[in-house]
Amino acid sequence: MKLVILGTGNAMARDCYNTCFALVHPSGDYLLVDAGGGNGILRQLRKAALPVEQMHHLYLTHAHTDHLLGAVWMVRAVAEAVKKGRYTGTLTIWGHRPLLEILEPLCRALLPGKLTACFGEIIRFVPIVPGDVLSCLDMELEVFDILSTKALQYGFRCTLPDGGVLTCLGDEPCHPDCRRYAAGCRWLLTEAFCLYDQRETFKPYEKNHSTALDAGRMARELGVENLVLYHTEDKTLATRKAAYTAEAAREFSGRIYVPEDLETLEL
Ligand SMILES: [Zn+2]
Repeated sequence: MKLVILGTGNAMARDCYNTCFALVHPSGDYLLVDAGGGNGILRQLRKAALPVEQMHHLYLTHAHTDHLLGAVWMVRAVAEAVKKGRYTGTLTIWGHRPLLEILEPLCRALLPGKLTACFGEIIRFVPIVPGDVLSCLDMELEVFDILSTKALQYGFRCTLPDGGVLTCLGDEPCHPDCRRYAAGCRWLLTEAFCLYDQRETFKPYEKNHSTALDAGRMARELGVENLVLYHTEDKTLATRKAAYTAEAAREFSGRIYVPEDLETLEL
């Protein structure tokens, strides 16, 4: 399995795409997790050589613009492929019910009827609840509520085909009651808004985000193997990888990845 990081930025990032990623199966099919804030998702997927025809599962964590609005474009792209006879099978869109109650009417309002005609039969909006175990691409995803105080948000604990575990915490720090979903995992994907050393500049705590140092401490406490940091500010992209890695390493001795947009990791 491969993890393709399609975007690494926070909501207002301009110099990189919003945080979203694909879990790519050896068959080439992939699960897309969040879609960023717009049409840029189509460019990121093209650059990553991930055709929409090979996306049959889309997982949406929460209904914020930087995660959800790109999904409108994915629905459009798949619906166009369906209409042209280029898409086989179905697209399952997983999200919590309030999110889908925004997304589906939005797509119906914005897209022409000839594209929305395949809703229900080919493009399926499937509500999920915490505790659900979702199967796709030889993986199992256990859904959990990250217990956000900002907006209802669902992360997941994914068991990979080889039995390894990848946990996605969404875009907030791990709540104490959610630690069991991340403890001991092989891959922990978590936000780090900025450096602790630059907290006065970027004010991560006001936004309920963490720093690279905080994320490193959390990874150590959770006993994870590999730590992936994303959903960052975009004012320090040129030095981000080195600086965030060094700061997280003050707390965490496992492997630390601070990917650029379109970087790929072998899981
Ligand atoms: Zn976000």
